[in-house]
Amino acid sequence: MTPSYAEAPVSQTLFARAAAVTPGGVNSPVRAFGAVGGTPRFMVSGSGPYLTDADGHRYVDLVCSWGPLILGHAHPEVLDAVRAALGHGTSFGTPTPGEVELAEEIVARVGPVEQVRLVSSGTEATMSAIRLARGFTGRAKVIKFAGCYHGHVDALLAAAGSGVATFGLPDTPGVTGAQAGETLVLPYNDLAAVREAFAAHPGEIACVITEAVAGNMGVIPPLPGYNQGLAELCAAHGALLISDEVMTGFRVSRAGWFGVEGVVPDLMTFGKVMGGGFPAAAFGGRADVMAQLAPAGPVYQAGTLSGNPVATAAGLAQLRLLDEAAYARLDETAARVRELAGEALAKEGVAHRVSAAGNMFSVFFTDAEVRDFASARTQETFRYTAFFHAMLRQGVHLPPSAFEAWFVSTAHDEEALERIATALPAAARAAAEAEPPAA
Ligand code: PLP
Repeated sequence: MTPSYAEAPVSQTLFARAAAVTPGGVNSPVRAFGAVGGTPRFMVSGSGPYLTDADGHRYVDLVCSWGPLILGHAHPEVLDAVRAALGHGTSFGTPTPGEVELAEEIVARVGPVEQVRLVSSGTEATMSAIRLARGFTGRAKVIKFAGCYHGHVDALLAAAGSGVATFGLPDTPGVTGAQAGETLVLPYNDLAAVREAFAAHPGEIACVITEAVAGNMGVIPPLPGYNQGLAELCAAHGALLISDEVMTGFRVSRAGWFGVEGVVPDLMTFGKVMGGGFPAAAFGGRADVMAQLAPAGPVYQAGTLSGNPVATAAGLAQLRLLDEAAYARLDETAARVRELAGEALAKEGVAHRVSAAGNMFSVFFTDAEVRDFASARTQETFRYTAFFHAMLRQGVHLPPSAFEAWFVSTAHDEEALERIATALPAAARAAAEAEPPAA
């Protein structure tokens, strides 16, 4: 018999086994429920908008593998493409036709990308883009913004948002002063700070890297003119603008946030959606900059599994299904979930802000304006903890941190929305009744 949602004995046993052989019992920190407490659910299958855990509970999934599964779990056409690719072998260590097709698809969709290099994770994409920017400009310093996360790249693990915020680590041991010393961390959405940094370090700044929309301190859209201002400041000072679209790319429109806002960066990074649930990511941009990359140019970058044929087949199949109708559906579904969550919290008098950029959104448990990491951190995270667990107990799987985006898919249908709507009132009540932890 399936236990109640409050109990998860099989997950508990698995978590104990995992903790014996894997640090913290997980292979990526935020999965451990560290911020919200309790036992993470070990999932065994996914179908459309649902996940099923090892205890047999079925959840409406609002994480979607942290963004990649934009068509829902086990989409039949993506699975067919994967099966077809698998039938031909798993990795050749040579160029393959699928890589060309995926690169062509990205170049066709995203105007500023003239050339693109495939890699296996978003971290690799941003790491490589930073190296390329440094190689191209012959400069060392990098500007990043507090609360923006670009993967666990040594030089970028300073004030790096969700995972790091969740665990309260201001920095991480293992990153040396030399590795982080060329990184300038500035507040997000503050052009004046960027202007001052360029003035203070003339001729030294290789690049500014920003999330196209901040999505790793909760979702915080760029203020009007902010990304354009960054592009102009970079151009004026001979630095490159790297727009990190690992999260927004192919999610918020056919051409990601670029497709919404139209600001032209020098380099862009992608991951998540473009891999169709497999490890595939990319960086690309101006042809003259990309021409510096080995073997065309001197900046070295490589990968045994880069452009893996199974991953590229999954990514291509997913991208080809993402037409305007799919994005319209995602926008509509996201708007419905936002409205439902907002209404439920308002009804219980819980201070909150629903913050959105396209179909990406999150809920801040504060009534203060949220425009950067400092303001995001004023939220009452203990209310999110209560809210999260109340949703989980009713079969809705939210991100286990108040600083993460919620993701919907095209598979979220009326039945899934109904389950969310039914769960929200009790979760909002739990948030209203939550007490701050003892100091
Ligand atoms: N950049 C952004 C904006 C991200 O959200 C992430 C991951 O969440 C990354 C980079 C790193 O990607 P990956 O986890 O594939 O290394």
